[in-house]
Amino acid sequence: KELPADPITENTRRQVPQACFSYVIPKKTAKPMLLHVASSMAQALGISEQEALSKDFLEIFSGNTILPNAKPYAMCYGGHQFGNWAGQLGDGRAINLGEIEHANKRWAVQLKGAGETPYSRTADGLAVLRSSIREYLCSEAMYYLGVPTTRALSLMLTGDKVLRDVLYNGNAAYEKGAVVTRVAPSFIRFGNFEIFSSRNDANTLKKLTDYTIKYFYPHLGEPSKEAYVAFFKEVADKSLEMVLHWQRVGFVHGVMNTDNMSILGLTIDYGPYGWLEGYDLGWTPNTTDRQNKRYRYGNQPQVVQWNLYQLANALYPLIGEADGLEEILHNFSATYDSKEQKMLASKIGVFTNKKGDAKLLHSLQELLQAIETDMTIFYRELAAFNTVAPLKGLEVVKEAFYSLEEFTEELKEKWNLWFTAYAERLEKETLPANERIEKMQKINPKYVLRNYMAQLAIDASDKGDYSILNELFIMLMKPYDEQPEFSKWYAKRPEWARNKVGCSM
Ligand code: AMP
Ligand code: MG
Ligand code: MG
Repeated sequence: KELPADPITENTRRQVPQACFSYVIPKKTAKPMLLHVASSMAQALGISEQEALSKDFLEIFSGNTILPNAKPYAMCYGGHQFGNWAGQLGDGRAINLGEIEHANKRWAVQLKGAGETPYSRTADGLAVLRSSIREYLCSEAMYYLGVPTTRALSLMLTGDKVLRDVLYNGNAAYEKGAVVTRVAPSFIRFGNFEIFSSRNDANTLKKLTDYTIKYFYPHLGEPSKEAYVAFFKEVADKSLEMVLHWQRVGFVHGVMNTDNMSILGLTIDYGPYGWLEGYDLGWTPNTTDRQNKRYRYGNQPQVVQWNLYQLANALYPLIGEADGLEEILHNFSATYDSKEQKMLASKIGVFTNKKGDAKLLHSLQELLQAIETDMTIFYRELAAFNTVAPLKGLEVVKEAFYSLEEFTEELKEKWNLWFTAYAERLEKETLPANERIEKMQKINPKYVLRNYMAQLAIDASDKGDYSILNELFIMLMKPYDEQPEFSKWYAKRPEWARNKVGCSM
């Protein structure tokens, strides 16, 4: 332990000054029951299949047994929530068991929903089955999509009941308690740095920054002003890559507060997230953000930049001059725009850069929004487009449209024009068609975790039927493969699921 600890070890809710974390003990659970293990994660941690099914595993990853050499802790952090400084937040329902070293890699392992900590504020530190299934399935799905993310090791029922306001019917109700074991090289967030600068505690800020560089950015060398600026640059680059992936696969995080921004550029905190169905830049899954839509799909890159400003402010006291940080922030938009164009071009099988590409991509963006068009299905089907028959283009992607009745002659004409331009553009690509298609199918997933799918898994699991949970997990491990056996999940959102969103608590 190289970082300052909170000297108080009681579990009372309090402000914790000059410390990076507090020691805590997970709550004992009544009757833990294992629902799922992510076997590749277990393997990466050196846990065998047999061990994962053992009583020890159940006891350790439900928080009931603390290993003799482990000292569980909750981290202290702050954050900007919906644009406002919210003061101290911290791990209110996450408890770090410790680190596991395996195959030359170090992993932080934490339980989400293992009871209260000094940072729980007015809440209980617990998690329900519904939100735990959402985090468990989605974080692993993102991993297999190639999106930087925290991961999950296991999903358990605790056997305890947890009281929640069920948002969709407005009544408080008891739900099944659950614990997800999350895994990442580190769970340090932007908010961990912000809390110390907000308290003018440059001393602890420096300790945390030096620690983060030493373990997670060791190539930056010894602490210095230059190293801190270089550190910020790498965090900015990684965060940019992360959000670029989100835009590629149509993932909308929903609560991009600075306490939910990983210092390693990992997707973290799967709360009210959602997946785009209809391609709508203004869509957000977060029902508490429907007014301002701050965290809407189309705004995610700008929010990352805004969050980086907050991190820059937090690191400033260590550096004492703003030029280096400002330049990095300033370059963010231009870098993002050029990478986004490249990413969007790659989704339509265009891998070189030619004059007129920006216009072609821009008209596609407009057409995709003209009537409700399923993002995932559109891009996936597009691979079958044949340049010799551009006027068959609409036919090729017809499965992507939610209502063919909304198609006016004018819109058809616009699509036909677009497909004609697209065919001409594809002719200028050098890759043979079969290679282009193969490449496109590795960029455009066939299977994503649509909200209604997670909901079906939740509803069945709540009744003790885990078959959908298992099925989705297996399917989402190969999101780019055809997997015809799962083709019923390659479909537009059913009408009953329109406007239904998951909630996070
Ligand atoms: P989030 O919006 O999930 O990022 O959470 C913001 C803050 O609230 C973090 O400090 C969380 O740890 C805390 N929090 C969220 N849910 C709970 C809960 N059920 N019990 C205690 N703290 C919570
Ligand atoms: Mg959070
Ligand atoms: Mg959360």
